[in-house]
Formats: sequence, structure tokens, C-alpha cells
Amino acid sequence: MDRVSSLPLVFDAPKRGLPPKHFADLDEQGRIDAVADLGLPKFRANQLAKQYYGRLNADVDEMTDLPAGKRDAVGEKLFPTLMTPVRHISCDDDSTRKTLWRLHDGTLLESVLMRYPERNTLCISSQAGCGMACPFCATGQGGLDRNLSTAEIVDQVRAAARALRDGEVGEPGRLSNIVFMGMGEPLANYKRVVDAVRKITSPSPDGFGISARSVTVSTVGLAPAIRRLADEGLSVTLAVSLHTPDDELRDTLVPVNNRWSVAEVLEAARYYADSTGRRVSIEYALIRDVNDQPWRADLLGKKLRQALGSLVHVNLIPLNPTPGSEWDASPKPVEAEFVRRVREHGVSCTVRDTRGQEIAAACGQLAAEEK
Ligand code: SF4
Repeated sequence: MDRVSSLPLVFDAPKRGLPPKHFADLDEQGRIDAVADLGLPKFRANQLAKQYYGRLNADVDEMTDLPAGKRDAVGEKLFPTLMTPVRHISCDDDSTRKTLWRLHDGTLLESVLMRYPERNTLCISSQAGCGMACPFCATGQGGLDRNLSTAEIVDQVRAAARALRDGEVGEPGRLSNIVFMGMGEPLANYKRVVDAVRKITSPSPDGFGISARSVTVSTVGLAPAIRRLADEGLSVTLAVSLHTPDDELRDTLVPVNNRWSVAEVLEAARYYADSTGRRVSIEYALIRDVNDQPWRADLLGKKLRQALGSLVHVNLIPLNPTPGSEWDASPKPVEAEFVRRVREHGVSCTVRDTRGQEIAAACGQLAAEEK
């Protein structure tokens, strides 16, 4: 099969456009220009940045250091409402909260906040829907609605950091980790995702000041974009959703494999590890009788050892089945044997804690239900 022409979905044009410009889309100079356009002095740009990134305010009525007579104009120009919560659903003794947001054009997106004893992690979306068409994934079934703007990505973080600070999800706390593992393929919305990462990791007032090492960007394996990300000088963790070590099955499970093979993806991952010094995460959704055979565990361990040496860690994810799907998680003994075999090749491997199963927290499930 021709590897390129067999992949129509990846480059599908998004169905809808981006939202109006928002403060969180702007860099420092952009903020200065924007306040000047409103007839405000330069220092207001910094003041607004402190409000947004520091105090986590996006509502001008809460920005009491802004002249009352200017608030409406600032709100209208710089802080249009980007997302409105449709539903919050909690589970795992309220330590997991999933939020379904409606965007300005009616598009739905999801983010999930997970509290752990030592960290608070937010799983965010980078696109509304996804064009990668992985057959086991709820989001993949609906196709790509559109890319999210930088501000729509960044504002998921602000909203969650604020909810945590204000004790809306258990005891008041601080957002410490971000994973781009919600809806969408982050590297297919490359520029905005990288821009959002800079805003998430820059110290206040340019960003939220979350450590880059605590930010994970996942990808199904867009090899050139992985290399480009390696050259950005960010030290985020790269997570590659491999799901199987052989091209034959991966061509079906992760259709983008028709464009960039397992070998090409692992070469790009090696480049990332060498450039950043960061260990690469390999994500592997273990699916009963599909990719959970002992020989695949051996092949995975062997290929990863060869390609990445010790700069790799495998995260096995028990599949969270989507309603009505033929796919199911592997039995526990099969999972344990898989882990054992991968480790036998000197590759570290653990099974990921699967939060949120009872609230449909597999990416895209809640949005799919709402639609
Ligand atoms: S698994 Fe990820 S990349 Fe694949 S269709 Fe779902 S959201 Fe897209």
C-alpha cells in the first residue's frame, strides 16, 4: 500500500474557524500593542498579564486595578468568552474531575483534572475532535472539527489552576503537571501548541510558571514535527503513542503509521531524547487479542532497547473501551506477562493508573456522548 496516499484524514481541512483573538493569544509585544490600541498606557499590558497568568482572572469585572470606565472595552477586545462549562463530572472520590466545555462556535472540548497525593495533573485538548482516525478512540471516530487557538489551550490551564486554587476540586491546591493527552493530535496543531507550552511554562507575568519538565506533549508519531519540537529548546516530556511495535498492525491501529513507520518514529524519538536529554515515554494501549501477544512484548522491548537505549519508559494503558466498541482491555495476567517481557529487554515499563473510567474519561468520550 502506498504510505502517503492511503492517509487522507491527517491533512483534512478543519471544518470550522478559530475564535476571536484573546489576551492569551498575544506575546509581550502583542499585549503592549493591544493596550495601546485601546488608548491605555504601556504598563497596563503588564498589569493585565499579572491578572490573567498570576491571579488567574479572565473576567474584567474582577480586575479591580483597571479603571472602571475602561473595563468593558478591555473585556470586549481582549477577553472574549472562549469557553463555557457545559458539565463537570467527578469520580474517584472526587479526585478526578472532567469538564466538558462549549466553545464560541458550539464546538465541544474536554479537559480532565486529576489529583494525586504528590501532584495535580490536568489533561488538556489541543484540537476539537481529531483527524488521526485511530479506530479504538472515541474522538477519532468523529473526525476533526477544528484546531484550538493558543488561547483556548491556555485557558483550559487557567480555569483548572483557578478551580484548584479555590478548592472547587477537593482541598485548595496548585496545578503542577500538564499532559497534552486530551482530544486531538498536538503536533498537528504545532504552532499553537508550542506557543501554549511557552505560556504554560514561562514565569509570571508571561505565563503560569509550570515547570517544563512537568509538561508532557503526546503524539501519534508525526516524525518531522517531533524533530522540530526537539529543536525548540523546550524540555517538555515527549510521549509517543506507539500501541504496537510492528508496521503491519500499526498501519491499522494508528493510521498515520502509513506515512511515518515505526522505525521513522523511533528515530525521531531518539533525536528528541538526544537533543533534550529527556527520556521518551512510549504509550501503549493494551487491547485484548489485538496487540497484547507475548511476541509483541518481546519485539517492543527489543526495538525500544535498540532505538532508545535507556532513554525510554513504556506506559501500558489498559484500554478504556468506548461504548459499543469491539475493543476491550487485556486480562490482568496477560498485562502482567507483557510488562515482564518488556522489562526483560532492559526497558522500564509500568501500567498506568486509569483514572476516570466511570465518567467516560477516555479521550473524547464525554463529547461524543453529548453530541
Ligand atoms: S487516539 Fe489520540 S490521535 Fe488517535 S484518534 Fe484519538 S485523539 Fe486522535
